[in-house]
Amino acid sequence: MSIHVHVRVSGGLAVTESGELVEDYRCGCGATWTDVHRVDEGQPEI
Ligand SMILES: [Zn+2]
Repeated sequence: MSIHVHVRVSGGLAVTESGELVEDYRCGCGATWTDVHRVDEGQPEI
């Protein structure tokens, strides 16, 4: 039994009215994630 490793593929970006950057990710297995970044802070992770 192998362990599935999710592969996050970016599905799009959106900016909310409150100034948050919302990024959607999805894996081929159907799993999804949503990351919310505060644009105000201006410190993107590299
Ligand atoms: Zn997966």
